Amino acid sequence: MEKSNRAAWIKGPHVYCNVPPASPAKPFRLVLLGAPGVGKGTQAQLISERLGACQLSTGDVFRAATKGQGGCDCSPAMSRALEFMRSGQLVPDETVLALVEERGACLKCRGGFLLDGFPRTLAQAEALEKILAAQGVQLDGALSYELPLDTIVARLAGRRVCSKCKVVYHVDTLRPKLAGVCDCCGATLYQREDDRPQAIRVRMEAYETSTAPLTNYYRSKGLLISISAEGTPEEIFERTLKAMKVNAAQLLPT
Ligand code: AMP
Repeated sequence: MEKSNRAAWIKGPHVYCNVPPASPAKPFRLVLLGAPGVGKGTQAQLISERLGACQLSTGDVFRAATKGQGGCDCSPAMSRALEFMRSGQLVPDETVLALVEERGACLKCRGGFLLDGFPRTLAQAEALEKILAAQGVQLDGALSYELPLDTIVARLAGRRVCSKCKVVYHVDTLRPKLAGVCDCCGATLYQREDDRPQAIRVRMEAYETSTAPLTNYYRSKGLLISISAEGTPEEIFERTLKAMKVNAAQLLPT
């Protein structure tokens, strides 16, 4: 089946996704937590492929706006938000919440959802709870990916992304055949602005101060599922399914 382009999330509620959401046996509604570089995005992709829930990343919405995709309104609020993003700082809650509220229909989607990079502050988590309650939707869990800090910094600083097809490489652990060139499409690889050393430092500080407390918030609600993010993406994914107690009947046919 064709992969969803998540247009309603990336571009906003005035646009429809290219394919209707899958109808899984059980729609999973999950929040993904973990420091930047821990591999949340990769896990979100794997979970999405096997359980059908759509990956909803607030960072992807901002990056699409940077590139002027999807007829971005590039309002003053969005332009300011992108300045925060470029320096590695968190975008103000008000802007992020306006963006998520506008896309509320994605949270009601019959395929479920995987929130990746949202919530990132306690205020965002509390607001999300209210948005979901208003829609009569319940969160199944918060998957928290955990890895030592120095491993995370090494992962982020070496990450390179294809400028065209967005495949991710690493200068030490996942090298392209030809340095700086994408194996899949031949386009140039680049380093995300917020993966540069100064921005990484700022992002890690923002994570420690604002996002790490979310694990306590979800633990207190009985929703926290802690998962070690050591090893290959497949190993982490197997661990994720086990931690979620997902059985074969819940997996989409491959
Ligand atoms: P990510 O791809 O999730 O690492 O997000 C990239 C950048 O977008 C972050 O470093 C922030 O500047 C911004 N961003 C994404 N999601 C949020 C959020 N929920 N709250 C605040 N800023 C965010």
